[in-house]
Amino acid sequence: MPSFEIVILGAVGGPYEQATQCFMLRPYGLEGTMESICIDGGAGINQIAWLLMQYKKQAINESVRENFFRESGEILLQDFIDTNIPHQYGFPNSLLSQLDLSLPVHVNAVLIYEGIKEFYITHPHLDHIGAMVLNSPLLFEPNPNSADPKQEKTLYSLPFTSKAIREHIFNDEIWPDLMLEGSEPLMIQDLKEEKAHKSKTFPNWKITAFPVHHGNRVTRPSAKIYSSAFVIQNEFNKDAIAIFGDVEQDELISKIWQHIVDNVPAGSLKAILIECSSPDNINPTNLYGHLSPKLLIHEIKCLSELYKSGLSGLDVIITHVKFSKFNLREDPRVTILNQIKKYAAMETALNGVNFSMTLEGISYIR
Ligand SMILES: [Zn+2]
Ligand SMILES: [Zn+2]
Repeated sequence: MPSFEIVILGAVGGPYEQATQCFMLRPYGLEGTMESICIDGGAGINQIAWLLMQYKKQAINESVRENFFRESGEILLQDFIDTNIPHQYGFPNSLLSQLDLSLPVHVNAVLIYEGIKEFYITHPHLDHIGAMVLNSPLLFEPNPNSADPKQEKTLYSLPFTSKAIREHIFNDEIWPDLMLEGSEPLMIQDLKEEKAHKSKTFPNWKITAFPVHHGNRVTRPSAKIYSSAFVIQNEFNKDAIAIFGDVEQDELISKIWQHIVDNVPAGSLKAILIECSSPDNINPTNLYGHLSPKLLIHEIKCLSELYKSGLSGLDVIITHVKFSKFNLREDPRVTILNQIKKYAAMETALNGVNFSMTLEGISYIR
């Protein structure tokens, strides 16, 4: 029985400005409420509306999607998604069944947006918070169609992220100070490193944040940039997923693997969503605090060595590919996924691990 529904609202790592990282999560099959939480806020109501519009136009073909990298403008989904990983196109049925789809797309998009009660932000880079910020004024408008008059959202993050968002975004300069003390609808709260936090929206879920490294500052190359990863676990059945923000390879990832092995029984780790921003042929000095296929496979292998029973059945879902100006004729997501699969095939420890590439508009059921 699955535990999680993961809707990919956005998964790109820029420089394209639309549909950057945002994953909407709900317990599997949850009916009677549209509540959800999001990891990162790089995509928002525009992507929700786009997804509903695809459904309305019935434009979601079972195998083909739009693609800017091919002359035909289309790609085959099988190039991106491992068919062993349960998935569907568009929002999960548990959410769609609660909407009156004869209404305009905008009405339903607002309802789904209002259902997002918590954002867990990995780090304050714009591709992880942009849409969340732009959408925030909606919280201050009463909605005559909403059954839920209390429109509130809370951002949760490690202190370095909360501080940056508070000081440099909602500061009345870059964006209005919608978090002014006492203005309820938009709140921000610090998480503690490596300490489980109980989600208010889904109290069976405990969410643990880990700091990771994400390159060095431009102005002070000796200073590290920080990002986060979250481990989300259902306390009852112990099923868990791990979701990474931008991350570079070093010992901080090993700490997360150790936590997972200590707390998640073999077979209960359902999926890892982790970035792989650039292909292998990139000069390592141009990784800027991200992973490449070789580094990613090294990390998954380290996790597999910690789990004595191996990782068969685990889904590793790749996110945050950068659309570079090179190799313009080939989709970099396909290049990267193929490189990852090639390395994985050479490692017996990774037998049975499924590798897929995130694509906006896909829901994974895990
Ligand atoms: Zn990013
Ligand atoms: Zn970043």
